[in-house]
Order: sequence, then structure tokens, then C-alpha cells
Amino acid sequence: MKLILLGAPGAGKGTQAKMLAKKYDIPHISTGDIFRANIKNETELGKEAKGYMDQGLLVPDELVVALVADRLQEDDAQEGFILDGFPRTIPQAQHLDKTLDEMGTKIDHVIDVDCPDANIVKRLSGRRACIKCGATYHTEHLKPKVEGICDVCGSELVLRDDDKPETVIKRLQVYHEQTQPLIEYYKDKNVLVSVDGKLPIEDTFEIIVDILGDR
Ligand code: AMP
Repeated sequence: MKLILLGAPGAGKGTQAKMLAKKYDIPHISTGDIFRANIKNETELGKEAKGYMDQGLLVPDELVVALVADRLQEDDAQEGFILDGFPRTIPQAQHLDKTLDEMGTKIDHVIDVDCPDANIVKRLSGRRACIKCGATYHTEHLKPKVEGICDVCGSELVLRDDDKPETVIKRLQVYHEQTQPLIEYYKDKNVLVSVDGKLPIEDTFEIIVDILGDR
């Protein structure tokens, strides 16, 4: 199953992507996670991406598309994958179409996790991320077992620089300008379904699984 999860930052697509990857046993490919890993490892790509990310801006298309095209060639992605946070612009989507075409495959479903800006601002300001493994929690809705400590690896939880309120507002503006047009793009290709991202995480998940089936 080849999926794209669309949605504003904080709409809950990352959480859904992780749950879907587990259920369908396919890799979860998050470009945001790939950039964060590169920043942590102080790679050239990480250094370049960080400046954009900290300001709530998109990393330029040319730095993203090649990275995703390479990732899709890996063995574990041949039977299926979930793209989370990519594509984020029309040129990225066009590039993805071309890559998949060359691989003789295509996207099965694009799930748009729909959530109003007001809910998102509230969610992101309560989000806490692990400094080591990147797992995310929420101060109200998804608390770790021990406050401030990651359940997965025991490291410290922090408010990511890009989840700070002023950056969130910028990220939402960028989402509306550059990413939202993808909804029409995939509607035109008859692969788009929208789900309500305001619901509790488990309910949104159930709706998505109903759409995708039990494969
Ligand atoms: P995310 O965790 O998906 O919200 O991504 C965090 C940040 O990484 C974004 O705000 C962008 O700066 C950058 N980023 C992630 N994916 C992309 C993409 N497909 N295109 C451009 N920038 C991206």
C-alpha cells in the first residue's frame, strides 16, 4: 500500500502515519524526521536544512526531492510506504509522480488529515519531543509515563524550536500557501480522501483503516 498523508503541521498526520506503518507493516518515511536526524548528526544537509526549519520555512525543493527518490528505491519500500510531510509543494508532487512512474508504480491513497488552525496552535504548543529519538508526546492528550521523560528511550522531552508559537504561525501560513494546493492536485487524480483530524487519535485512525481496508 502506497500512501501519502497530507495535512497542516500538527494536524496529527505524523501520529497517524506511525500507527498505520505499524498496522500495515510498511515504512514510515517522514522528511521532517530525516532532516532532524541530519541536524543531530551535523551533516551538510542538516546544516543547510536547519536555518529554514528554525524559521518555519520549507527546505528548498531540490534538497528534498532527491532524498525522497533515493529512499523510495530501498528494499523495504518496494511493497508499500507512507509518506509523511512529503510532498509539500506542487513541484515536489510532480517530481514524486515522475519518480514513481519511472519505478512503474503509483500512489494508492492520499489521506488529508483536516484540522482547523486554532486546534493546531493549541496542539503544537503542548507538543513535546524527545531530544534523542524524536518520539512526540502532548502535555494534555498524550502524556509520557514520567513527566518530561521519553517512554521509548528515557531521554529528555523538549518543546521543539519549530513548535514555538511564532514559528507555528509561520508554518501554518506556509502550509496554506504552498501545501494546501496539493489537496486539489490529488483530488483531480481521484486518490484523495479527507478525514477529520479534530477527533481523538484512535477515532481518526479507525476512520482511515476503514477507508484503506484490512490488507
Ligand atoms: P515536519 O516534522 O514534517 O513538520 O517537518 C519539519 C520541518 O522540516 C518543516 O517545517 C520544513 O522546514 C522541513 N520539511 C520537512 N519536510 C519537508 C518537505 N517535504 N519540503 C520542504 N521542507 C520540509
